[in-house]
Amino acid sequence: MKRNFNRRQFVGTLGMGTMGIMALNSCSSSSPDTILHNANIFTSNPGQAKAQAIALSNGKIVAVGSNDDILNLAGSATQKINIAGKTITPGFIDAHSHPASSGLRHLRSVDCDLRSIKAIQEAIKAKADNASPGDWVLGFKYDDTKTIEGRYITRYDLDEVTPDRPVRITHRGGHTAYVNSKALELSNITKDTPDPAGGQIVRDENGEPTGLLKENATDLLSNPPNTNTDKDWQDGVKLITEMMSKSGVTSVTDAYGNATSLKGYRDAMAADELSARIYCMIGYHGIDEMIAQGVKTGDGNDWVRVGGMKLTCDGSISERTARLSEAYIGRPDDFGIVVMDEEDLYSYAIKAQKANWQIGIHANGDVGITKSLNVFDRIQKESPRTDPRFRLEHCTVINDDILRRMKAMNVIANPFSTYVYWHGEKMVNYGEKRLESMFAVRSFIDNGITVTQTSDYPPGPYEPMMALQSSVTRTDMSGKVWGANQKVTVEEALKVGTINGAYASYEEDIKGSLEAGKYADLVVLDEDPTQVDPNTIVDIKIERTMVNGRWVYES
Ligand SMILES: [Zn+2]
Repeated sequence: MKRNFNRRQFVGTLGMGTMGIMALNSCSSSSPDTILHNANIFTSNPGQAKAQAIALSNGKIVAVGSNDDILNLAGSATQKINIAGKTITPGFIDAHSHPASSGLRHLRSVDCDLRSIKAIQEAIKAKADNASPGDWVLGFKYDDTKTIEGRYITRYDLDEVTPDRPVRITHRGGHTAYVNSKALELSNITKDTPDPAGGQIVRDENGEPTGLLKENATDLLSNPPNTNTDKDWQDGVKLITEMMSKSGVTSVTDAYGNATSLKGYRDAMAADELSARIYCMIGYHGIDEMIAQGVKTGDGNDWVRVGGMKLTCDGSISERTARLSEAYIGRPDDFGIVVMDEEDLYSYAIKAQKANWQIGIHANGDVGITKSLNVFDRIQKESPRTDPRFRLEHCTVINDDILRRMKAMNVIANPFSTYVYWHGEKMVNYGEKRLESMFAVRSFIDNGITVTQTSDYPPGPYEPMMALQSSVTRTDMSGKVWGANQKVTVEEALKVGTINGAYASYEEDIKGSLEAGKYADLVVLDEDPTQVDPNTIVDIKIERTMVNGRWVYES
């Protein structure tokens, strides 16, 4: 979708959002408006790791310290909130996720995160029965390894309940689609259709498409007309940031935004409907238009900011299409898929680099990561940029050479934080040995590489407590441990989920830790994650979430 994007208009609109805050600042009195005291505070500030109380004014932190010191600052109008010994951490930063598009899907599509093909059939049928004839029925968050049937859903399963209108279900990983016969027919996909480059039409023993389309084969589908309005995007943003804030997320990076989703974030901000701050990366398809308008990384304000440019090199971990140097377990000829090769990546990356954009490349397998590092290396030599903070999105399967090169170029790792726990049953495709080099948070920390917490939602659940547990225990839902060598401490995982995420968006001076001068973005937990059984961190309740000094969620 094309949108006329005017830089002056954009920056102007964002400016409006901050005026209220600035006005308040100029007339603030000397005593804080709020004090949170009697708390067990993790600050993510190495200079003052723990504290008991925190003073806030006009959305920002003015002081952090002991109960006595902070309560001493109170004036007659100061609201004092006794946290009753509960734990406070900085708000969590989900450094790679897809909030606007998933919010929209929560409004419009069938949530197929269900445990049987039968349940999915029923949900699709219910949606189809209420749709107009000819309408596409869309589903999302389907997970082929989480249904009791132990196989993936086929065109025939979908035909059974919806023969007359096209159905398209996307995997929660987002790289594969499952469609019915009507959708194949409308898209002219038959047994004679060749596989496209970087994609696969999965076929049965007779060569008939089964309804499963992988990677670039999903582009063969004739899609439903885009009827989403600006208001739909705004509503989706409102919904998803509310959902995420309930789990303690206060900032989210949209890893594949465009002018339309960026407008959705701005509209939600203008309507005071944003419950989390947004760093909106822009997919490479939209980069020429953005560059032509003079837009670049960092534009905007502290609520909605333009992020880096996003490219994609290889496939997905949850859908087992990542490009690996060693084949998938049990599939000796399958090394995964390269979606965009180096020359292609380079052609976009160099443009963005010259126009002063941060660049993030989706790379999961060690082959994909190495190719992406080659691109970073080449563009930084050809057209050096100060502090480029290149990002490897996912950066899942690593090796020593990758670590060495990432450290040398100060490349940020954005690995999946909830996968070991949530997607454990898929890990047999990678094998125990390889898991020692996957989601390698311990290796990143030990090698001095900035590593963030990410969900990639919808592919992974976004709950930060699940991310903590997964990183600390490396244990899946069935109790199996994967890559114990990559375990980190709770304190380390907290920093990964807070201050490191701020660094990845050049915002470490304004958020990510609880210290004077930064925004009052924080979470109150009902238990201290360092004190509970690590296998129960996921059960810790979020009591309240504050963004910009305002409670956006209270249980
Ligand atoms: Zn993603």
